This record gives sequence, structure tokens and C-alpha cells, in this order.
Amino acid sequence: MAGVARGGKAAPRITGKGKAIVMPGAGPGGKAALLLAGRGRIIVVAGVGPGGRAVAPLAGRGKTIVTPGVGPGGRDGLRMTGRGRIIVVAGAAAGGRAVAPLAGRGRIIVMPGVVRGGRAVRPLTAKGKIIVVPGVTPGAAPGSVTGEKGMKIGFIGTGNMGNPMAANLIRAGHQLTVHDLRREAATNLLEMGAGWADSPREAVPGNEAVLTSLPVPRDVEAVILGEGGILEGAGSGSVIIDLSTNSPTVVRRLHEICAGRGVALLDSPVSGGVYGAAAGTLAVMVGGDKATFERFELTLGAIGSHVVYCGDIGAGSVCKICNNLMSMGIGVLLSEALTLGVKAGVDLATLADVIAHSSGSSRRLTEKFSRFLFQGNFEPGFATALAAKDVRLATDLGREYGVPMDLSNLVDQRHVEAMFRGFGGEDSDAVARIQEEKAGVQLRLDGLGG
Ligand code: NAD
Repeated sequence: MAGVARGGKAAPRITGKGKAIVMPGAGPGGKAALLLAGRGRIIVVAGVGPGGRAVAPLAGRGKTIVTPGVGPGGRDGLRMTGRGRIIVVAGAAAGGRAVAPLAGRGRIIVMPGVVRGGRAVRPLTAKGKIIVVPGVTPGAAPGSVTGEKGMKIGFIGTGNMGNPMAANLIRAGHQLTVHDLRREAATNLLEMGAGWADSPREAVPGNEAVLTSLPVPRDVEAVILGEGGILEGAGSGSVIIDLSTNSPTVVRRLHEICAGRGVALLDSPVSGGVYGAAAGTLAVMVGGDKATFERFELTLGAIGSHVVYCGDIGAGSVCKICNNLMSMGIGVLLSEALTLGVKAGVDLATLADVIAHSSGSSRRLTEKFSRFLFQGNFEPGFATALAAKDVRLATDLGREYGVPMDLSNLVDQRHVEAMFRGFGGEDSDAVARIQEEKAGVQLRLDGLGG
């Protein structure tokens, strides 16, 4: 570690069989957090300027990460998993932000010239070799730099999540045909050039894949199997990619029925909320035939920055349900901790700030509560009815597989109570109102402190 200047903070951590970390020139206020797990060899972060922040976790068998020239205020998030070799992010200028997750067998990512305010989101998964993203211009949308261009895609369910995901696919150069029960949910997409289909069936012909983003498993079943459904318009070689949070068991049954007609189905739920959907930075977790996944991997890169192949059909849904169980469980526990702390005499701003910077931190606090509960904003977002569905999917899966889930069932009951109270259509942070009421404390705050 050479030249970590006054005020600079460098937190190198090296685990496994790593060999060396070199961090020259982390300037005043700069923060470099390097995490090297597994068999990585060398990380070099050079020239992190004042206020700059470089985060470079390297998991798996990566070899080298070099991040030169991240300018003042710049933020640079590199993530390399699997068998990646080298990531080089050069010249991310002031305010620029580069996010380059590399999963699978990628070799090299080079992102020169990310200019002020510009943003590049470049996921590289599977067998990618080299990606060069030069000259990303200020304000460029992530979709404009990711994904294979020019696919014809049907998209069904343009609600809170589906709408921004479809918009990013259009920005990435794909030609969309959209359908929703509510045509008005697609107005902006039609203005962006999407075609309209009067039914799921009509969203199929001529398209390389049909994507669905629907509320609950029975909606997905209806849209695929029902009258006027996708299977009526599908033929051998058609591909369905379900982005909904669905039951693995339902997904596996649908997969079997589809396979009987020569239709491929991938389960591909997403995480990151409406903000992540708008930014194109979702986590996308995919189950199903691997070759089909690889065909659409870069396309999915237009909606997410972390596209992961999880395994056979249903594996994506299993990952998503486990993740959401955590998020909802943390939400309940967090509301207890915060009402406790406030009632015991600490103001919420201080308490939330301390937890956000300590071992109890979570995205539920820093990204969710801070945008919804703390603001008294219960416009969904992510509706309580969908959150309750996800927790129930988890506890049902526990029963199906004989896994004891004591705490999860308490979390489930809290969501049942929220539904009973009529919070179903409000954002899932409304569940915390039950704890607020029981404790006699309201958790409202303008924003998390620094
Ligand atoms: P939403 O209710 O806002 O959108 C669903 C859309 O599907 C609606 O526009 C609805 O009109 C349409 N729809 C319902 N049934 C239909 C049918 N039979 N035919 C055509 N259209 C139909 O829900 P959302 O928040 O966008 O969530 C969609 C899926 O994504 C859910 O499975 C949810 O659990 C999951 N998810 C949501 C979030 C989030 O933050 N909102 C995050 C990750 C995953």
C-alpha cells in the first residue's frame, strides 16, 4: 500500500490464496475497499482521487483488477466472480460511475472514457471475451450500452417492474410487442415505439422470446396456459422467460407442459426494486436450460447488472424466494430494533445512521426504509400483497421440503396481519406500521445521515 494520503482510508482484506494487494495513490478522503476471496492474485487500485471510492470485490479465480484514474467524486464498482481474468476501468472521470460485474468465464472488460455524469452498466456473463465501452456520453441510459441489439421480444405485464424493464429493453435496441390487462400501463412504452398485442397469444408470433412480469403464480399460469394465452400462439422453438417471483414448483410444472409443446421456459426473477428496474441494475437469477440462458444472457443484461445462471428450472425462483424472505424478515426485525431504540431515548436519525454504518446494516434500511417508511411514502414500490406472497412462497417451500422455519412463519403471520389490515395495495414498508402502532413510535425521517 503505497501513498495512501492524509484522510485516505484503505481497507484491504485478503482471504484464501491471494498473493498481493497494491494500492498506490488513494488520495485524501478516498476510500478503497478491496476484498479478495478465493484464489485471486493481485489487485491494484491506482489513483483513487479525493472522495473517490473504489470497491473491487474479487471472488473465485480472478487474476488481476486494475482501476486507474478514478477521479474526484467518481465511484467505481467492480465485481468479478467465477473465472474472470482482468478488469480494467480507465479514466472514469469526475462523477462518472462504472459498474462492471463479471460473472462466469469472462476475460477482459475495458471501459475507457466514462465521462462526467455518464454511466455505464456492463454486465458480462458466461463466455464473453472482451468488452470495450468507449466514450459513454453524459446521461447515457444503461440500456444503451448493454445487451445484444435488435431482438424481437414480446413483453407481458408492464406494471411497476415490467414497465421500466421493458423500457430498458427498448433503449437497448430491441423491438417490443407489449401486453397488459391495463393498456394504460404501457402508454409510455407505446410512445417509445413498442407495438401493442391484444392478448398474450398475440405477443408471441415472430418474437424470439416472450417475457412475463406478473403478480402471482396463478397469473403466470393463466397467461401461459389460459385462453388466449402464450401457448396458443407458441410453437416449437418458442421461448418464455418469466421475470415474476414465482413458485419453483409451479414453474417446474409449467416447464414440463411447455416442453411437451417444444417451448422452452426459463424462470428469471429479478431483485432490486423499482429503482433498480429503472436504472437497469437488477439482479437477475435464471433457472432452466443453460444453452437457452446463454442465448438470452446479454439481452437480460439490459435489465440487470448481475445476471446469474442458477441451475435447472426453478433454481432462479428458489434463489429469489430465499432472498425475499431475508428482505421481509429483516424489515420486521428492523422495525422492532428502530422502535426500541427510539423509545429508549435515541433519535431516529442517529440510530439509523449508526446502524447503516455498522454490522446491522442492510439494504432494507439504506435503500428501502429510507425511501418509503421513513418518508411516510407507501405508494408501491413493492406492494405488501406481493411481499406477503413471497414470504408465503418461502414458508410453503419449507413445508414442501421439510425444512423447519420458525422465524419465517412469524414473519409470514406479520404479513398476514398486514393484509388483514388492508395494507395489500400499499408498499411493503407499510408492514412496519404494525410495529409502530404496537410500540407507540413513528419512524419518520427526511433521509439517512452521512
Ligand atoms: P404490478 O402489479 O405493478 O404489475 C403487474 C402487471 O401485470 C400489472 O400491470 C397487471 O395489470 C398485469 N397483469 C396481471 N395479470 C395479468 C394478465 N393475466 N395478463 C396481462 N397482464 C396482467 O407488480 P410488480 O410490482 O411489477 O411485480 C411484478 C412481479 O415482479 C411480481 O411477481 C413481483 O413479486 C416481482 N417483483 C416485484 C418487485 C417490486 O419492487 N415491485 C421487485 C422484484 C420482483
